[in-house]
Amino acid sequence: MTEPRDFDILVVGGGMVGSALALGLSQQGWQVALVEASECQALVQPPAAALGVEDFEPRVSAISVASQRLLEDLGVWANIVAARHCPYQTMTVWDGDGTGRIQFEAAELQARSLGTIIENRHIVRGLFAALLDSPVELISGVQVSGWWQDNPEGAGRQGVRLADGRVLAADLVVAADGAHSRLRQWVGLATREWDYDQQAIVCTVRTAQSHRFTAWQRFSPSGPLAFLPLLSESGDEHFCSIVWSQDTEEARRLMALDEAAFASELERAIERELGAVELVSRRFAFPLRQRHAKEYVAPGFALIGDAAHTIHPLAGQGANLGYSDVRALLDELSRARKAGLGAADELMLARYQRRRKGENLTMMAAMEGFKQLFARDELPLRWVRNTGLRWLNQLGPVKNRIAAEAMGLDI
Ligand SMILES: Cc1cc2nc3c(=O)[nH]c(=O)nc-3n(C[C@H](O)[C@H](O)[C@H](O)COP(=O)(O)OP(=O)(O)OC[C@H]3O[C@@H](n4cnc5c(N)ncnc54)[C@H](O)[C@@H]3O)c2cc1C
Repeated sequence: MTEPRDFDILVVGGGMVGSALALGLSQQGWQVALVEASECQALVQPPAAALGVEDFEPRVSAISVASQRLLEDLGVWANIVAARHCPYQTMTVWDGDGTGRIQFEAAELQARSLGTIIENRHIVRGLFAALLDSPVELISGVQVSGWWQDNPEGAGRQGVRLADGRVLAADLVVAADGAHSRLRQWVGLATREWDYDQQAIVCTVRTAQSHRFTAWQRFSPSGPLAFLPLLSESGDEHFCSIVWSQDTEEARRLMALDEAAFASELERAIERELGAVELVSRRFAFPLRQRHAKEYVAPGFALIGDAAHTIHPLAGQGANLGYSDVRALLDELSRARKAGLGAADELMLARYQRRRKGENLTMMAAMEGFKQLFARDELPLRWVRNTGLRWLNQLGPVKNRIAAEAMGLDI
């Protein structure tokens, strides 16, 4: 093997989560490399032509207030929201099969918004712009193609091989390479996973009525439908990004419809809350699978973001959980550094795992419970749903506690 290049910490995967971690670590003074399969120049460049109102990227995220604070602490939030984004003040959730409805308001929490809808590419662009200005060694446009370790049982050297033949070594390798993480598989960290037998259809629509800065979510037995508000550069409030999770067969049928027929089904499914709906982008369908790594750490190795857990998009929490992983790992590594410990300290990694595993599992269980509750058609469950939602809507403190949890806030 050629002599590897050495770093304190190597982050593999420069998506929304890995790029935030790499930036935070370099701000703490660690010597960091980030390997990303896509070319980083392409990630930071603005689109060739100014973005038209209809060029919203179908992949958007509802960024919680806690994630916003992390991005502010990293010094990138202002740059990210210099691009178009849409803060939302209200979230309305209802049972499509009954009368239950609940409404969350930022004002009731003395907050300016419940969260912000941003296209994923704007988040990545903001992070990479800062990375290019940082001491992080950016290795982009090349895949990691293998993992090596000279002492799998404990302290030693480890690293990755790149597809172009380069070899990298680090005290700690962090896998942020997404749901299908090859590093997780090479290191041998097992996952617990199951198929939802659902697909999420995503696309952008124009609505006849303003979205009123509200995130809309309607539950039905075949799956949840979300209309997430978007704001064009000119301030047009008539665009939404939709995430429509449906049983696989139904999703296939919907994908096969022509645009007008699809839009008319969508309009019916959202109960014409926003008037007529017109499709303004292509449709994409993502198969939905729940995945959770049984262990997040191994000697000299840690998982974060989707590489550690993938969750049903019904509450828009995937990237937010990833940012909570980043916050926890940054805290632990900062403490280790101040104590003069190395980046692969075993107790520090164990603490990171303990902090994150419980919270991620709780969120995943809550999403599963929600999905099951709304998937069932029996009369007693429908009664529980409708009475429960109406009752919760009138219980200010409990409702606000739920909203604060979703926003990632302590109140
Ligand atoms: C339909 C849908 C809607 C969603 N909505 C929301 C939402 O509203 N809010 C929210 O918080 N979350 C949402 N999510 C979840 C969110 O998109 C993910 O949790 C998030 O993108 C995960 O980020 P990541 O950086 O961990 O992984 P990824 O975004 O998958 O990034 C992994 C990176 O690793 C790179 N990579 C992979 N393999 C290699 C390799 N071998 N070598 C080098 N590089 C490699 C890839 O190029 C990629 O850049 C949604 C998901 C779906 C499917």
